[in-house]
Amino acid sequence: MKDDKIKIAIISREETLQKCIAKGCFRAFNNYEDSFARYAGRDIELAGFCHEGGSSETLRENLDSRIESFKAQGVTAVHVSSCLRSRSPHYDEIMSILGEEFDVVGYTHGSENTEK
Ligand code: SF4
Repeated sequence: MKDDKIKIAIISREETLQKCIAKGCFRAFNNYEDSFARYAGRDIELAGFCHEGGSSETLRENLDSRIESFKAQGVTAVHVSSCLRSRSPHYDEIMSILGEEFDVVGYTHGSENTEK
């Protein structure tokens, strides 16, 4: 392992998290699988996990507050959850906004190339 730990956050989908315990996200992270396979051999830390806020009217505001919290934790890479990719009409906007501040990866578990 290199010394330079990579701090990662996952942002998921509020509605999905009412039922999902994020097992797939955590399994992939803990085992360096799927979207986290790119960090093989690196020291990684999950420094944040949250949802996008659920409301399209306050999306930017919700993301801005999470961005500030991620930055305060030293997060450099954000993974947008696979359920946001498959279910949110705001996926592209979320990717774009987060991409202004972080290295952004557009899924967590499953295939990199799954269609929205
Ligand atoms: S990406 Fe999968 S495991 Fe993660 S919160 Fe969404 S449905 Fe749950």
